[in-house]
Amino acid sequence: MKNISVIGSGTMGNGIAHVFAQHGFEVSLIDIKQEFLDKALATIRKNLDRQVSKSTLSEEDKNAALRRINTFTDLEDGVRNADLVVEAASENLGLKLDIFRKIDQFSPQKAILASNTSSISITKIAAVTKRPSQVIGMHFMNPVPVMRLVEVIRGYSTSGDVTNRIMELSKNLSKDPVEVNDYPGFVANRILMPMINEAISSLYEGVAGVYEIDTVMKLGMAHPMGPLQLADFIGLDVCLSILRVLQDGFGNPKYAPCPLLVNMVEAGFKGVKTGEGFYQYTPGSKDLVVAPRFKK
Ligand code: NAD
Repeated sequence: MKNISVIGSGTMGNGIAHVFAQHGFEVSLIDIKQEFLDKALATIRKNLDRQVSKSTLSEEDKNAALRRINTFTDLEDGVRNADLVVEAASENLGLKLDIFRKIDQFSPQKAILASNTSSISITKIAAVTKRPSQVIGMHFMNPVPVMRLVEVIRGYSTSGDVTNRIMELSKNLSKDPVEVNDYPGFVANRILMPMINEAISSLYEGVAGVYEIDTVMKLGMAHPMGPLQLADFIGLDVCLSILRVLQDGFGNPKYAPCPLLVNMVEAGFKGVKTGEGFYQYTPGSKDLVVAPRFKK
């Protein structure tokens, strides 16, 4: 594989483009507006600069990586020569189905089509294409250049050959891929989201405060970040939507989102991206401050 098209240049898409370009692939980065692509390129440059300042990358390799990224606002142009398309557009079922119908139409017949979705069924996405055996999940973790895991999700129709090729490719990106089957939440979110939900329920029921819950999990379980801080980082709306996928997919009430999480999302408190969730975030400050409403 040589030509990789990445659809969506947001948080995940720019990280995925960065990693492929750094490892010598030609990248076509696609988004709906040029200003989003310009912002993504600036982020990639900043992140590559950080690697140069840590001496993990040379200035020459940084410039070569940047030269390997081309940007497109036209999907058809962007996927025309793809060997692999990695879709990392917004987490919305209708949008992803529409994108996969189009990339199936416009990309070469031999191309593999991957989605970075956190929770949408790969089998459902594959079913709208004429090549379901070539559709697979490639679930990178955030931040992509730093996190080593790629959850490789094998849909109901994904072929063994395509799975093996994506496992190999992930290793060539210096990642540690893990193969999983396509069931709600895959493995990462099936285990992570109930833990986050339980942490929120512990707060809701008054078992302990924000600081205490996160400290138990950090110091007691050696988690680098407590579950409430992690929920803020992921986005409380994203956590809620993944819990709903688990609840719908398994039909099991154990996945029902905590009412406090539902209220916070409905009120617009979505974590880091809105400036407040379980903690309060001030631009430029690295201090972790419990949100006023949760202060004891
Ligand atoms: P984001 O909102 O930061 O970026 C999404 C990008 O997709 C935006 O730039 C948007 O303009 C673009 N987009 C929307 N419609 C498009 C279209 N039709 N064509 C091309 N681009 C389009 O979102 P994100 O956090 O990067 O998430 C992207 C995907 O990755 C989602 O499926 C999400 O579930 C998954 N994911 C996110 C994380 C995370 O921590 N953020 C982790 C793993 C997986």
